[in-house]
Amino acid sequence: MPKMGIHCRKLCLMLAFLLACPLVAAQDAAIAGHQMRLTAPTSADIEPVEHNVLHRPIQLLEGYAHWIDRSYAYGGNAMNSRPVHLGVEFVNARATPVFAAKAGRVVFAGDDTETQLGPQLDYYGNVVVLAHDIRSLRGRRIYTLYGHLEAVDVKLGQVVEDLARLGSVGSSGVAIGPHLHFEVRVGDPFDFRQTRNPELWLQHYIDRGLIAGSLRNQDGEPIYGRRLTVRSDTVSRDVFTYGGEVVSGDPVWRESFVLADLRPDEYEILVLNERGLPVFRDSVQVKAYRTTFVEIVLDE
Ligand SMILES: [Zn+2]
Repeated sequence: MPKMGIHCRKLCLMLAFLLACPLVAAQDAAIAGHQMRLTAPTSADIEPVEHNVLHRPIQLLEGYAHWIDRSYAYGGNAMNSRPVHLGVEFVNARATPVFAAKAGRVVFAGDDTETQLGPQLDYYGNVVVLAHDIRSLRGRRIYTLYGHLEAVDVKLGQVVEDLARLGSVGSSGVAIGPHLHFEVRVGDPFDFRQTRNPELWLQHYIDRGLIAGSLRNQDGEPIYGRRLTVRSDTVSRDVFTYGGEVVSGDPVWRESFVLADLRPDEYEILVLNERGLPVFRDSVQVKAYRTTFVEIVLDE
């Protein structure tokens, strides 16, 4: 069905659903009971939660980059110049304090020269991994990882509160320049193939929402590594679909792209082909504190 030169378009399913209210309740419950649960965790007494419950690990103050660096998003490879990204970057000066995204227990603290946490030894350098009392929709425990630190201020086994200081930004391991590398892992904190997109798990900024979605062909197979442009009258952002062996979407949501921190507005979503030409185009509405989920089936 040709329209404005676009030969194929099918918006299969589009949902906007409220996440904020039930999440706040679940988060409060988890925080209130965390001490008891940490000493005797069982799979039954920890609530599975939806996303958007983690604090940003960098202070929400002027002078600190508490936003995600979009040039090397989760699952991306920075135009084939970097390995597939297992997390997101907060690009900050050396010695910037790093904080716990949620209360939890330290399951790793120190350098990874002898314990493999990533694709190779000495990948994250000085690194902290926390186990949290929250579970994914499939009931698997959530972990967060803080890599390339300069200093580590916590010890193995230590119980930390919400936003406890864990260390400071550095460039240890394979980092190119000082920044915080932040990951969310599910189920197994030592398996780098168990990451999820942190953009789904971080709390919304005030009055911001996000777009998440999947891109599939007509047989229902996911399409990876495709560029999408999401734009409004005031902003335009590119995002690449992710998935496959090393990184993956949430097994319930099955998303392959996420764009967080969007102002409420109408956004046009374009899927581009190898030559940068749009092969799909449609519009969605972003609302504050909500996720707009878009499922795109590409007929090509
Ligand atoms: Zn990184």
